[in-house]
Amino acid sequence: MISREEEKQLCAEARLLLKESGLDFSDTELASMVCADFGLSRPRREGLQVLTFIDTEYLGAKAIILLPEQTMLEHWHPQRGEDPGKEETLRCLYGVCRVYVPGEETLTQGFIPEGQEEYYTCRKEIILEPTEQYTFAPGTPHWFQADEAGTVVLSISTQVTDLDDRFTNPSVVRKTVYGETPPAAEA
Ligand code: ZN
Repeated sequence: MISREEEKQLCAEARLLLKESGLDFSDTELASMVCADFGLSRPRREGLQVLTFIDTEYLGAKAIILLPEQTMLEHWHPQRGEDPGKEETLRCLYGVCRVYVPGEETLTQGFIPEGQEEYYTCRKEIILEPTEQYTFAPGTPHWFQADEAGTVVLSISTQVTDLDDRFTNPSVVRKTVYGETPPAAEA
């Protein structure tokens, strides 16, 4: 659960990073930015800010902004009928984005959010800097994280299917619920 006030604050911080990235959006597009807390009520640690600017039957494009040391939870895009699942490319525009996929454990620069080890099984680290990108095949689990400066990445994909995404952490609720965050949750 996230309060509108908290979302407003996190999106305001994200807009400053977005400005640094040089990627321009209209005021209307900027106003459409949302923060997702995935039902965990600690969006500054596990969550993201996202501005979706293409969402058609075939194509999705989003600017994803991670605040300093914010982590996007481990998830994958499952098969849906004939659709093999969303293929997604992350391209770094600003800062450093640490990306994790299945494979040999090479995690050194990033960190697993405290107490969440079992929900972050991908430990192969890929460091993306501006002009670098990485493509996740459909169904491949992945998570990603900003360093202490925050990061802006573009997510270019086949059709956006956010509500079908699967998460390693079973407590995740993908649809954002708004309300007053219990003060203890961010502690
Ligand atoms: Zn993804």
